[in-house]
Amino acid sequence: MSVADACTPFAHGASRSAWEQAHAAVQADEGLWRLLRLDGLQSDGFGGLFEVRICPRCQSTILRPTSREQAIELCFQLEKLQAQALEALSHPGTGVVLPLSAPAPQPASVLRTPGPISP
Ligand SMILES: [Zn+2]
Repeated sequence: MSVADACTPFAHGASRSAWEQAHAAVQADEGLWRLLRLDGLQSDGFGGLFEVRICPRCQSTILRPTSREQAIELCFQLEKLQAQALEALSHPGTGVVLPLSAPAPQPASVLRTPGPISP
């Protein structure tokens, strides 16, 4: 671990106990938790929900239980952020034309295999 890494609150070693301890500390700290990149929401299959975030140190996913109300609030925050981004993109003079639907799929590149080898 470099000195720069050691200065971040997300620093942890490579051992299982090191990352378990660091991830648990981040899960317990609301401010640190909100700094992690959001990777979605996940059902526990029994009516509960998890918020999924990414550890900047090891890129692993970290799950934390969340309430339905918190999940809905998070979705509204993301919707607002997306609306602001689309508004910025659609501002006259930007030259950006927003597609009305998903972009058309690009043709797959053709893989060429070598021909038979003659003896
Ligand atoms: Zn980690």
